[in-house]
Amino acid sequence: MVRLRGHHLVCLHFFLGEGYNPEFIENLKEVLTRAEAGEEIEILADADDVCKECPYLEGRICLYDKNSEDEIREMDRTAINLLGLENKGKVNWIDIKKKIPGVFRKWAKRYCEECDWRRVCEKNENFPVSFFTSAKLPEPKKKG
Ligand code: SF4
Repeated sequence: MVRLRGHHLVCLHFFLGEGYNPEFIENLKEVLTRAEAGEEIEILADADDVCKECPYLEGRICLYDKNSEDEIREMDRTAINLLGLENKGKVNWIDIKKKIPGVFRKWAKRYCEECDWRRVCEKNENFPVSFFTSAKLPEPKKKG
C-alpha cells in the first residue's frame, strides 16, 4: 500500500526527478513507481511516504518554512475536494491521472503561480505553462 497525502496526488504528476536531496529523490521515484504499477494508494491527511525522506520533516510536521505545515494541509484538503476523494480513502494512480486535466486549471491558478517548484514542474511537457503570465520564477530550496 502506498500512502499519499492530498497535494501529492496532484503535484507528483509533474515530477521529473528533481528534489531536495538524493535520498528524497530516490524515495520519491520508488513511491511513484509503485503507484504507477497499480499498487493501491491510501490517502493520508498528513506526512506520507514521500514526506518521510524530506529533510524538512520533523516528526510528522513540515518545517519547510514557518507557515508550511498549515499551507500544505490546506493544499491537501483542496486536492482531495477537487478530485472528489476523502481522507483515508483508497484510490489508484490511473484513476487520479484521468482526473487531473479536469481539475488542474483551478489548482494551478490557486497554487502553482507562487510555488517554489514551478520552475521544475514547467519542464514536464504535460504542465500547462500557458496558464501563467509571470516570467520570474522562484528557485526551489535545495539542501546540500
Ligand atoms: S508548481 Fe507546485 S503546486 Fe503546481 S503542480 Fe508543481 S509542485 Fe504542485
